[in-house]
Amino acid sequence: MEQQPEKIKKVERLNEMPEEWQNLRARILEYFENKTDGLDIERVNEFVTSEGLSSTDILFIDFEDIRRLSEILRPYGLADQFSRSTSGVRIPELNLAIVARNPDKEQLNGQIYTEGVAVHESAHGSHKGSFVEYGCETYVPRLGFALQRSLDDRSVPYSGIFLEEGFAEIMKGEYLEKYMSGKEKDRLLEVLGLPEKTPLSREVTVSFQSKSGEVVETVMPIKYLYIKSENGVDCSASAPAASALEIAWKKYPELRTAMIESRGDESKLKEIPKIFERISPGLYSKLQKIFKADSYHFSLGSNIIAAKIKE
Ligand SMILES: [Zn+2]
Repeated sequence: MEQQPEKIKKVERLNEMPEEWQNLRARILEYFENKTDGLDIERVNEFVTSEGLSSTDILFIDFEDIRRLSEILRPYGLADQFSRSTSGVRIPELNLAIVARNPDKEQLNGQIYTEGVAVHESAHGSHKGSFVEYGCETYVPRLGFALQRSLDDRSVPYSGIFLEEGFAEIMKGEYLEKYMSGKEKDRLLEVLGLPEKTPLSREVTVSFQSKSGEVVETVMPIKYLYIKSENGVDCSASAPAASALEIAWKKYPELRTAMIESRGDESKLKEIPKIFERISPGLYSKLQKIFKADSYHFSLGSNIIAAKIKE
């Protein structure tokens, strides 16, 4: 007799967040005080909805509370999302965005730094993930344009992380460009050694290094930079993805429309590969295969888009 193939596990869609996660979510919101002092949360939410995105629940915690939060998340397998170098996370399992307030970064850049992180995490949160049951576990396999490639092995990297991170970071960049005060802009320009009144859309060349020492240079508008120290600037890992997507949006505005519409309507997601295919055949698949979400690998992707658009 022929051997039976291993039974294929069935994926079931759930309409509601599992009770275990509902309880964890409630516990986190009760445990941590929402530290919103000095932040213009109304402006953040207004901006997000004016972009055509749905707003999301954001919890602001003190930077020192990251460790405590990680301890609470760890038994649920959710702790690795928040490291000490991260300013914010979107936890799709809990349908919650968490932003850690960094006093050093706020001191140098103003409280708008934290509002920018909140806009980034809200943009991730504008996609409402669906819960699925697979085997004996529950998953949220999709976060916007990012998709888990293996439900059996969650260490397999997501595909589409480049577009998801780029999308969230563009929203942050647009917010900063619109609302950064004259004083905050002047400070950034001074550290960059640029003249007063230079627009935040001005591009500069930034270089990034891989873990093994290779260097890549990429061009990005200064709105994606923040002051790291008295005489140095930095950007988030997502910034190179955002700047490339911004170039694509300028030339192909239908890409922006499709990306925004697909946040609330998963059926619109299929428009996106078609638009990329029109920009350059094979480009979409190349971008989907950027599995490492760091500034070096995102810069490589960014340079591919910029080159294809200039062709
Ligand atoms: Zn992000």
